[in-house]
Amino acid sequence: MIILHADLHTHTLASGHAYSTIKEMADAAKEKNLELIASTDHGVAMEGACHRLYFRNLTAYPRKMGGVTVLRGIEANVLNMDAELDADERLLSPLDWVIASLHEIIAPPSTPAIHTEMYLRLADNPMVDMIGHPESTTYPFDYDRVIREFGAKGKIVEINNYHAFHQSPKNTQNCEEIARLCMKHGVTVAVNSDAHICHRVGETALALAMLERIGFPEELVLNAAVERVLAHVQKKHPDFA
Ligand SMILES: [Zn+2]
Ligand SMILES: [Zn+2]
Repeated sequence: MIILHADLHTHTLASGHAYSTIKEMADAAKEKNLELIASTDHGVAMEGACHRLYFRNLTAYPRKMGGVTVLRGIEANVLNMDAELDADERLLSPLDWVIASLHEIIAPPSTPAIHTEMYLRLADNPMVDMIGHPESTTYPFDYDRVIREFGAKGKIVEINNYHAFHQSPKNTQNCEEIARLCMKHGVTVAVNSDAHICHRVGETALALAMLERIGFPEELVLNAAVERVLAHVQKKHPDFA
């Protein structure tokens, strides 16, 4: 059985279209017995998101809030099919946890071949920790080829409970296909809520049920053990404690 101890994709008021403070998010995580959250507000290219100084100043966050470890993160936007992000190395390198995601209102979709090339390029970006909601029907790609490359480059593949299980049945199908390929190729995933309000922190039941059904190995779920998450962060920041 897979039990999660961390939620690595959450938003606060700073995203512009989310509704809780960081304290409310940490308190909600505590109530749900999570030991760690990553606060990952949208990057600057998202309409209504905050200024880059917000991310530069995340050091203002205490490491623990109410007993919950809070990673200083971002959900950076992929801007185009060259896999450029809306945050440069100077902004990203001090952060604990960097998600890179495609959003239709920012990066116009193209062909599956071009999405494949884009993801292969994104896999080469050393700043990126996790690929956000890759199951999107808007951006089909060569799953087998790209998932293998994510594994080879140490990228975590997201199983996003909200995007994959509350958006469209096709997303749900795609998510299962991606999970099966991660299992086949030994690629680590993270199962997250993508909560935009405190009540949704840790909501991952449908994603976990799918992983259980297909026999997904617990040891390939990064956030099933906080030590795994911390070990991942410490690869970038050896002094992180
Ligand atoms: Zn997103
Ligand atoms: Zn998000």
